[in-house]
Amino acid sequence: MTQPYLTSRLQGFGTTIFAEMSALAVATGAINLGQGFPDTDGPAEVADAAIAAIRAGHNQYPPGLGIPELRHAISQHQQHWYDLTFDPDTEVLVTAGATEAMAAALIALCEPGDEVVMFEPYYDAYAAAIAIAGAHRRVVTLRAPDWTFDTHDLERAITDRTRAIVLNSPHNPTGKVFDRAELEAIAKVAIERDLVVITDEVYEHLTYDDAQHIPMATLPGMRDRTVTISSAGKTFSFTGWKIGWACASPELLAAVRTAKQFLTYVNGAPFQHAIVTALGLPDSYFSEFAADLGERRDLLADGLRDAGFEVFDSRGTYFLTVDIRSIGQADGLAFCRDLPRRCGVVAVPSSVFYDDTEAGRSLVRFTFCKQRSVLTEAVHRLQAR
Ligand code: PMP
Ligand code: GLN
Repeated sequence: MTQPYLTSRLQGFGTTIFAEMSALAVATGAINLGQGFPDTDGPAEVADAAIAAIRAGHNQYPPGLGIPELRHAISQHQQHWYDLTFDPDTEVLVTAGATEAMAAALIALCEPGDEVVMFEPYYDAYAAAIAIAGAHRRVVTLRAPDWTFDTHDLERAITDRTRAIVLNSPHNPTGKVFDRAELEAIAKVAIERDLVVITDEVYEHLTYDDAQHIPMATLPGMRDRTVTISSAGKTFSFTGWKIGWACASPELLAAVRTAKQFLTYVNGAPFQHAIVTALGLPDSYFSEFAADLGERRDLLADGLRDAGFEVFDSRGTYFLTVDIRSIGQADGLAFCRDLPRRCGVVAVPSSVFYDDTEAGRSLVRFTFCKQRSVLTEAVHRLQAR
């Protein structure tokens, strides 16, 4: 072969930082505060529902859109929490996690050479999906400590080739929850420039203090130009089940579905049944889970501050960010590669979420979706560093 096997579109993507850091955690026996996955299972009745679904024979391909019971449950969830009405038969699509929904939306909507605008730091899968679609990304940088953006930067990022804006709120890795004024600014640009907004809302129920998740689709004029994506993984602590969904107008959803049906076609038949049970849990499940995670965020944030780190406020998600210049370091990647052996803790360098690597060079992400005893031990290790 004279040419590399990997297409030029995917050159540079390599192995995800999560795989690299989780492998390092296993190799060194370090506490893994890198990859965001809980170290306890979700509700027992949801696990029981999955087992019951397997025993009941729900083991063959489900319908292409997802089982009707789950599409109804997703539609009811949107109505109940956000007063958003989606027809379960034409406006809801079950996917293999939010990741597939995002990839299908980008592949469906973008011509080669089109541009997609998103905010950095950004979840790494967006950049890869945009590349797979043959499109190009343009980024608008969120600035610490509040991770605000300059509306002029957003306007400047839009060109005649812009097709879509990708928005993730609550936001990984910063824990930012976009407020109404920010969403209105994005919506204004989307409407003026006739763009689709693709939203990743997988942390919709994981907000803390007085932060409130506002779906972009609830803003005036946005419902029919938004693809709203979420998934069950984070809300119910079953990240390995990979049941996600997209909600959109019939025309937009049909486009996303066309791409999705040739990616996985369908997935997770018994788990689809179990997520019907999950979405039917009482409101108290959602509020208690968020309150508990909020306490764990405090435990980690306070411990990191005591260890000398500058910790930025996180108001949502599984994650918080520190600036390691506060402890006399500058390079997050070197710091994270060294930390497991030196200190027995794994974290993720935020620079991998930036195109402007200088902007993220000294930032490091920690997850707090772990048991209190694990967080306490990690904090002790970091304080003794
Ligand atoms: N979006 C964001 C912002 C994430 O942090 C993650 C990580 N799990 C995902 C999507 C992936 O979601 P899923 O597992 O449902 O594909
Ligand atoms: N979303 C998780 C995180 O940000 C990881 C998912 C993955 O490994 N791709 O840590």
